[in-house]
Amino acid sequence: MESEFGLIGRYFSRPAPADMLGVGDDCALFSVKPGFQLATSTDLLIEGRHFLSDADPQALGHKALAVNLSDLAAMGASPLACLLGISLPVVDHKWLTAFSEGFYDLADKAGCPLVGGDTTRSNTGIVISVTVMGQVRAEQALRRSAAQIGDDVWVTGTLGAPDIALRMLQGRLPVDQVILAAAQPSLERPEPPLAFAAGLAGVANAALDISDGLLQDLGHILQSSHCGAQLQYPAMPVHPGLKGVDPAAIQAAVLAGGDVYQLCFTALPGRREAIQALASQTATQITRIGTIVQGSDAQVFNAQGALIQSGSAGFDHFS
Ligand code: ADP
Ligand code: MG
Repeated sequence: MESEFGLIGRYFSRPAPADMLGVGDDCALFSVKPGFQLATSTDLLIEGRHFLSDADPQALGHKALAVNLSDLAAMGASPLACLLGISLPVVDHKWLTAFSEGFYDLADKAGCPLVGGDTTRSNTGIVISVTVMGQVRAEQALRRSAAQIGDDVWVTGTLGAPDIALRMLQGRLPVDQVILAAAQPSLERPEPPLAFAAGLAGVANAALDISDGLLQDLGHILQSSHCGAQLQYPAMPVHPGLKGVDPAAIQAAVLAGGDVYQLCFTALPGRREAIQALASQTATQITRIGTIVQGSDAQVFNAQGALIQSGSAGFDHFS
């Protein structure tokens, strides 16, 4: 196996911006703006568990960083820098080239330079650990505990596509090539709404990213904020490429499908104009899907006003 230092030098040591100390010393160094707090988060991706062995390495590099950037977005934080820990059973230069390209392309786009990490040999599969660091104005981070009764509930982007794509790829839904082609990018190359999220700090109350499914994730806000929510299913932004999929599968994907990496957030109705303006400025799709109420659960209603789902569980095929 090529030396650790050879691999780092070859694939993971692009220079950091001039005001930072990047790869090559014992620690990276950078500053947080005065009046801001450091927001940091880490996610592990394990071969066979979070991705398949034959996953496209460029898409994997992208997604490894994207899922972490999504956590920064969910706090209303702007990216500062990231770290990459990677453990490899063998050195596959084609794989590493594609992986690092996917990673750096998103890092450049998001303004989140790779400033350090660790590279080791693995006895089993590939393990990827990314840590992101961001900054958010002190006291403005979007915490899960900050939803208030009467808040609007919003989501960014669209819902349902990653789950439908995954089911088709796993053979749990009949494959339709046109639908799969439309849905697969949102599974493999999620684009968290970073610019919009940064502007949301100080405007919205609570937020999180929809990594485990809308109802389950919103459930975390409801639990921490001690409230309930009423949601309108017909208002929900179903991914337009899913037309033709069984409506029950779409509903399950919209309400409970994970891997979305968009935001669910709550805000006072008085903030609607500010939120719409921010969405236009940042070219972000946003949709108001319901209201925070007294209670402890999310309740979902159909166009006739009938309750179609309550709580965060209830879909057999997700249990
Ligand atoms: P140390 O001995 O201090 O752990 P290493 O030899 O592991 O340092 O790493 C040397 C330098 O390369 C450090 O700056 C480290 O942050 C960086 N580095 C190691 N692996 C990676 C990686 N996968 N991505 C980015 N930087 C890395
Ligand atoms: Mg090390």
